Amino acid sequence: MQLEQQHSVKPNSGGWLRVIGLGPGDPALLAPAAKAALNEAEDVIGYRTYIQLAGPFRDDQRVQDSDNRVELERARHAFQLAATGRRVVIVSSGDPGVFAMATAVMEALEQAKDPAWDSVDLQIIPGISAAQAAAARIGAPLGHDFCTLSLSDNLKPWSVIARRLQLAAEADLVIALYNPSSRARPHQFSEALALLREHRAPETPVILGRSIGRADEQVFVTTLAEVDPAQVDMRTVIIIGSSQTRIIQTATGRRWVYTPRWYPAGK
Ligand code: SAH
Repeated sequence: MQLEQQHSVKPNSGGWLRVIGLGPGDPALLAPAAKAALNEAEDVIGYRTYIQLAGPFRDDQRVQDSDNRVELERARHAFQLAATGRRVVIVSSGDPGVFAMATAVMEALEQAKDPAWDSVDLQIIPGISAAQAAAARIGAPLGHDFCTLSLSDNLKPWSVIARRLQLAAEADLVIALYNPSSRARPHQFSEALALLREHRAPETPVILGRSIGRADEQVFVTTLAEVDPAQVDMRTVIIIGSSQTRIIQTATGRRWVYTPRWYPAGK
């Protein structure tokens, strides 16, 4: 496949669609390309909380916030607007391609019935994902092989989640868990912990990053034995260490967590 392919279609009458990542919430961690798209946008679409993070907006900008559960509708609506020549931004938290809107936009494009959508000038602008932002606060826990898993079973069966957790644990990957629990699904993080405890040592470092980059940010370092599901909510990303992940303390008392670049032979 040629990389140039995506530029071979002529953009339509000035409209475009940008799917941007806001990063964890701190404006300093927002990519300049995403900022420029927000500045040039006529329509800004997204979940309420994210729209608030992306603002303030000018009077000439139309802001359309919506519920978190209607991603596909929101993506279709954005295509419709862009196809009529408007400059449209869809906002996601973190990275738009990590459990977020870029994927819904791709689904909408694949299912599109309106040929005008194919010629919409579409760009995905990446952002710093929650796991990366949390990792940076505490050292380098993602410094070796890692994976990300969403614990939400809205769109996939729990049996798939459980199997992936088990295999990731067996493979000794560092695991970043997104969407750990919600009022609708309070038990999933506890179930995930029970599974992980079968495969990993009780002293395995666990990092809880809550509201990273926002005013109420909290970062806890605990262990697999001691982590308490009550400390975890939908605004938390969890990093479960591998067998190699270490906690170090400097002379000033500062604690860091990292996973070394090397891995012992024969483990
Ligand atoms: N696209 C986002 C993830 C969306 S899924 C990203 O790349 O970060 C939503 C989940 O992401 C939340 O349940 C939480 O686990 C995590 N998350 C998003 N923003 C966060 C933040 N600022 N601090 C901690 N976790 C966050």
